[in-house]
Amino acid sequence: MALGGLASSILQPPIGFWLPVVQTGLAWTASATILIELRVAGATRDVRLPWSILAAAVAVPGSSFLVAGLATDPGLVPALLQLAGPLIAAVGLILMVRTSSRRADWAAVVDALIVTAGIGLVFWLLQIEPALDEPGATRPEQFFPLAFAVVDLMLFASTVLLLRTTGPKAGLGTRIMTAAFGLFLLADWVPTVAEFLPVIDDAWVARLAAALPLAGISLLGWAARYPREAAGPVADADGVSVPQFGGLGVAVLIAPVTLFVQATNPPVSDGKAIAVSSAIIWSLVLVRVMQLLQRSQRATRQVRELSLRDPLTGVANRRAWTERLNAALESARRTGKPLTVGILDLDHFKLYNDLHGHPAGDLLLKEASAAWSEQLRETDTLARYGGEEFTVLLPGVSPGEAAQILDRLRQVTPDRATFSAGLAAWTGSETADELVSRADAALYRAKQSGRNRVCGASPA
Ligand code: GH3
Ligand code: MG
Ligand code: MG
Repeated sequence: MALGGLASSILQPPIGFWLPVVQTGLAWTASATILIELRVAGATRDVRLPWSILAAAVAVPGSSFLVAGLATDPGLVPALLQLAGPLIAAVGLILMVRTSSRRADWAAVVDALIVTAGIGLVFWLLQIEPALDEPGATRPEQFFPLAFAVVDLMLFASTVLLLRTTGPKAGLGTRIMTAAFGLFLLADWVPTVAEFLPVIDDAWVARLAAALPLAGISLLGWAARYPREAAGPVADADGVSVPQFGGLGVAVLIAPVTLFVQATNPPVSDGKAIAVSSAIIWSLVLVRVMQLLQRSQRATRQVRELSLRDPLTGVANRRAWTERLNAALESARRTGKPLTVGILDLDHFKLYNDLHGHPAGDLLLKEASAAWSEQLRETDTLARYGGEEFTVLLPGVSPGEAAQILDRLRQVTPDRATFSAGLAAWTGSETADELVSRADAALYRAKQSGRNRVCGASPA
C-alpha cells in the first residue's frame, strides 16, 4: 500500500481523474486496516479507543482528495478536512499515552513542551511569519498556514510525548508510528524546504506533498499490527535517556543559535519571537528542575524512613534504636527525668519455629510486635534488636512502672507465646552500651530462673 501511494502520487499527471479516487481509497483502506487489525489482535477497550481515533485521523483528511477532485465547488472543505487530520491524531496519541502510563507523568509533558517550544520557533520563523507577512494575502490565505502550523505543532508535541513515555525501549509499533507522523509533518514542510533547495521544482513539490502523507498513512496501518506494543512499555519517569537528552539539548539551543545567526548577519529581525521562545523554554526548564528537586527530596525521605525500619515487623530497627537511645540519654541528662530500657527475648522460639514452621515464626514476630506497640506510648520506642530479641525505650518511666508495662506486654503476646525480659534504669552517668549490657544481664537471669518473667538489673 505504501508503494501504491507513492506510485499513484508520483505518476500524478497520467492518472488524472483516478488520482483522488486512489488517494482517498488508500486512506480509507488504511483506516479500515487499522480497525481490522485491532479486532484480529484482540485489543482491549483502552487500546482500541486511541487507535480508533488514529483511524479517523487517517480517514478524515484522506477524504479531502475525493472532495477536492469530484466536487464542483468544494470551497474550504478539503483544507478543513486536511486540518482536522493532525488535530485528531494528536488527541489519539495523547489518549494512548494516558492509557499506557495510567498517570499524569508531568515530567514527560514538560519535556515534550520544552522540545515543542524550541521547534515552535522554527515553525514561526519559516512558516507562520512569512504567511502572515505575505503582501496582499486574504484572511484564509493567512489563516490556513497559521492553522496548519499550529495543528502540526500539536501533533509534533504529542509524538514527542509518546516517544518520551515509551522511552528508548520503544517497540516496533511505536517506531513505525513515529515514522508515520514524521512523514505527515514532513509533507507540510516540502514547500518551505523547496525554497532553499532549487532542485525541487513545483511539480515535485506537489508530488512529494501528496506522496508523503500517503506513505505515512500506510505506515500507520502497518503500526496497527502491534497495537498493544505501540502503547507501551512505559519508561521510568525520571530516567531520561541520552538520545532524549540530545533532543532536549537541540531544542533548547534553537533560540540562541538563531539569535547568534541573526546577530552576525544584522539586522536581528526576530528578536521578539526568539525572546518569547527562550522565555517559555526557560520557564519550563525551571518547572522541570523543581519537579526533580521535589522528587529527590521525597526519595531521600523515603530512603531514610526505610533505613530506620525493620522490614519484617515494621518497628524500629537496630540503627533507629541506637539513634533514639542516644537522643533519649541526651534528653534525660538535660531534664533529669528517669529513663528505663528493656530487652525482650521470646522463649523457646527455636522450638516454635520447629513445630509450626519458619513462616509461622515470622508471623508471630509480626503479630507480637504489633500487639506490644499498641500497649506503648507515642514517646516509647519498640525496636527489633535482632532475631527474636526486641528492645524497649521508656523515657520518663521508673523501673517499677517499667516492670508493670512489660507485664502488660507479656499478657498480650499472641498464640500463647511468652518472653523473658531484663530491665535497667539509667544511672545518670553510664554509657548506652553499659545500660544495655545491664538489661541484657537481667534478661539472662530471667531465662535462668525459669523464663516467662521480667527481671530488674542490679545497680551499676
Ligand atoms: P530461649 O528461650 O532460650 O530464648 O530459646 P530460643 O529458642 O528462643 O533461643 P535461640 O537463640 O536458641 O533461638 C532463636 C531462634 O529464633 C533461632 C532462629 O531460627 C529464630 N529466629 C531468629 N530470627 C528469626 C526470624 O526472623 N524469623 C523466624 N521465623 N525465626 C527467627
Ligand atoms: Mg535470642
Ligand atoms: Mg529466645
